[in-house]
Amino acid sequence: MASPLPAVHDTPDPDFADLLARRPHLKAHALDGLVMDDVPLVNIAREVGTPTWVYSAATLRRRHAALRDALIEAGLKATIHFAAKANDSLAVLRLLGAEGAGADVVSEGELRAARAAGIPADRIVFSGVGKSHREIALALEEGIFQINAESAEEVERISEVAVSMGATAPVSLRINPDVDARTHAKISTGLAENKFGIAYSDAAALYARMASLPGIRPIGLAVHIGSQITEGMAGYRAAYSRVAELAQALMARGLPVERLDCGGGLGIPYRDEAPPTPAALAGAIKATLGPLGLPVMLEPGRWIAGPAGVLLASVVLQKRGQNRRFVVLDAAMNDLVRPAMYEAWHGILPVAPDALHAPLSPADVVGPVCETGDTFTRGRALPDLPPGALVAFLDAGAYGATMSSTYNARPLAAEVLVDGARWAVTRPRQTHEALLANQLVPDWLGTTA
Ligand SMILES: *Cc1c(COP(=O)(O)O)cnc(C)c1O
Repeated sequence: MASPLPAVHDTPDPDFADLLARRPHLKAHALDGLVMDDVPLVNIAREVGTPTWVYSAATLRRRHAALRDALIEAGLKATIHFAAKANDSLAVLRLLGAEGAGADVVSEGELRAARAAGIPADRIVFSGVGKSHREIALALEEGIFQINAESAEEVERISEVAVSMGATAPVSLRINPDVDARTHAKISTGLAENKFGIAYSDAAALYARMASLPGIRPIGLAVHIGSQITEGMAGYRAAYSRVAELAQALMARGLPVERLDCGGGLGIPYRDEAPPTPAALAGAIKATLGPLGLPVMLEPGRWIAGPAGVLLASVVLQKRGQNRRFVVLDAAMNDLVRPAMYEAWHGILPVAPDALHAPLSPADVVGPVCETGDTFTRGRALPDLPPGALVAFLDAGAYGATMSSTYNARPLAAEVLVDGARWAVTRPRQTHEALLANQLVPDWLGTTA
């Protein structure tokens, strides 16, 4: 059985200076300590408390622009559809929508969030293996840009729903290219054994079937091979080459193909990874799909939002175990589940100015939840962190707040957006009252004697 504790690495961890050097929105200020853009994180903790997610608006804008520019420089006609599951904060979606981004959604809730944030339906793509009748109907009512179908059964269902509404659904087929993205098994999606997409060998026949069904307008092909892709472009190139080949074959048969959806998955350096750059990704798209001359779509989530966020937490106490120091935080696996779920490594920076230069010793950083898996890291070089000291988990802007739960009856953490020197609470901390308020106890249980 796998250990419930985080992986131990065989290369040294990056030090605080390395972590800061690669994250231009974070600076260590001599008086204010750790500062995001122009806001000292200690000010946010003082007013909002902890744990709190804090996002940098400038970083979200800069990273969206970097991807867009790389696609333009490669000579591609491309649209960016931010994967809302990475961060579905209305403020974040509003900000990215204002930058021109669309959204990639995988549920009714995310579709509603994207629309509520002001992202027009004609920039939204609906992905996912299990869309219900109701979700398909809502997408069509809204006038969605594209639905990515993932099975023959789903194609039939979309046709039925569209016909019953007198609508025409714009549908792309998500292909399972059976390529290895060489990422963590839990976030690999492009292997034949994964639940996603339509087997490559079945896709042409299904596309032809789609063209003959009422209520469906075939739009093109989609592919998404996994998340946190850091080990080169080979997986992407193989997947896009297969898409190109299939698109060509479909067009040769006289079937309409309007655009191609390249998915997301571009990785970020959490520790010392060296993922492909946006230019490399754009280059691979250009080399494989460019000759077809069709518009392309990208669905990045993590690459845009991950580095833009931190999770701010306070030390509850330091527990001196036998030969071990445990730093117990008020944040836990219910807030940031990535270490427990994917053995993920997150940089952890102390926030106080003196703590960034204090002597270091190994510490296990844990949360208060009653699970051994509630361990963020083991043996991390950290300064003395007395009760009340603040720390920031880096790169927590994607798959952070969206994956959190209320396990151990812990209210959902607050969220804050920093924009230059301004900042605002974008999601107040859930109250204990709210946590209990949506439950009902049947009368027949009586009262406790
Ligand atoms: C999750 C997902 C994405 C975004 O993945 P990232 O690794 O965050 O870029 C894009 N497209 C689809 C279909 C997804 O499921």
